[in-house]
Parts: sequence; C-alpha cells; structure tokens
Amino acid sequence: CGIVGYVGKQSAVPILIESLKRLEYRGYDSAGITVLNELLETYKTVGKIADLEMVLPEEIIANVGIGHTRWATHGKPETRNAHPHVSSGVSVVHNGIIENYLKLKENLIELGYVFESDTDTEVIAHLLNYKMHNGAKKTDLLTAIRETTRELEGSYAIAALCSDEPGSLVFARKDSPLVIGIGENEYYAASDVTAFLKHTKNVIYVDDYEIGAVRPDCIEIFDPQGNLLSKDTHIVEWDL
Ligand code: GLU
Repeated sequence: CGIVGYVGKQSAVPILIESLKRLEYRGYDSAGITVLNELLETYKTVGKIADLEMVLPEEIIANVGIGHTRWATHGKPETRNAHPHVSSGVSVVHNGIIENYLKLKENLIELGYVFESDTDTEVIAHLLNYKMHNGAKKTDLLTAIRETTRELEGSYAIAALCSDEPGSLVFARKDSPLVIGIGENEYYAASDVTAFLKHTKNVIYVDDYEIGAVRPDCIEIFDPQGNLLSKDTHIVEWDL
C-alpha cells in the first residue's frame, strides 16, 4: 500500500517500477502504473512488482506517470480492483480509505458513471472526471481535485493524471503519508522518501488537507481555501 509518481525528462516506467519495489516492505497484494504520453496507458495486475513488469510492453515512451501497490481494503485482490483507476482520460492512485464512498458511488451511478471495480478509490476517478468535464463549467485537474477532496471523508494520499494536461501530476493528502522529491527539472511523489531517495534527497512533506501540482519546472502547493503555500524544503540526512 503506497503511491508513487514522476514528472520530468527521464523515462517514467523504470523510475516508477524501482520506486514501487522500494515500497514493497509496506506489504501489498497487487500493483499498477499509468503513464501519460498524449494518452493514458494503464497496466495492472495481482501479485508482485515482478508480475507487473511481466505485463508491461517492451518499450513505453513517457516522462510522466503514477504507480501503486495495493493492500485491499474494499474489493478483493483482483486485477480490476488494482490501481490506477481510470475514468476516461483521468487516472488515480490512492492510499487510504474513503469512508463515504457508497453514497458518492450512488450519486455517480445516477449521473451515468459505470464502475469497473469494487473499490472505494474508483469514486475519486469519476468525481475528478465529473468535476473536469460534466460540471457547470469545465475546470482544470487542480481545481477538480480541490473540489473532489471537499467531498471525501476518510484518509487519502492521492496522485492523479489527466490526458488533457500532459506533463502535470496533481496530488492531495489527508491522514496518509505523502512526500514530494525535488530533482533537476523533475519531481517525484511517494508515500515514503525511500521510494525516490536514490534520485534526490531534497523533499517537501505534504501536510493534511494540502493539495498541489508538479510539472517538470514547477511545484505549487495550496491550502484547502486555494491559497498558495510556501513550503520548506528538507534535506534527508540518511542513505538507503
Ligand atoms: N482503499 C483502497 C483499496 O482498497 C486503497 C488501499 C491501499 O491503500 O492500498 O483499493
């Protein structure tokens, strides 16, 4: 149970896979990644990261991606319940539990959304999609995640991508760990610094109720009211 993410110039897949392997100690039953190169490409499976590697095509060209190791809380360990969860053009990984997901799911089904999994997490993907595309006015992914998290009860570390916004990864956190690693024109996201410590020791700890976005050249983190925060960068003093 952990999330990872990458935006930058390097090939995303090897970084995501390696980061997921570093989170293996947290325990998990399934794993998956989404990479973004104009379109979203999602791969997931029950089992170990080595099993995930088996279902990946030989070459995937992408510099942006998110990944997940799942410890099932809602829905059996099955491939369709593995993360990322996708709602046409929006992909989400989530660590935690959405306590009010049944109510949210009912509302989304009424709006016409079709659920492919039994997870609590899938409501986040459809809510983001709804906020971006079907609401009164179209919004960007960052606004969508701000509006979505207002409706969520429970715990979450979330990372999300949208095919309309290539090169950008958004994140949010409440009661589940989330840390951002700062590289040179690249950013890493993870549940634990060990995931990306090989690449950078400069980190920003995301606090509860904060949301943000990273692009290769910038990071922005906001409080729930939408005020831009100036967050401290910390240097991790230890090695892997
Ligand atoms: N509650 C989510 C699920 O069951 C996420 C579990 C996790 O944190 O790995 O899919």
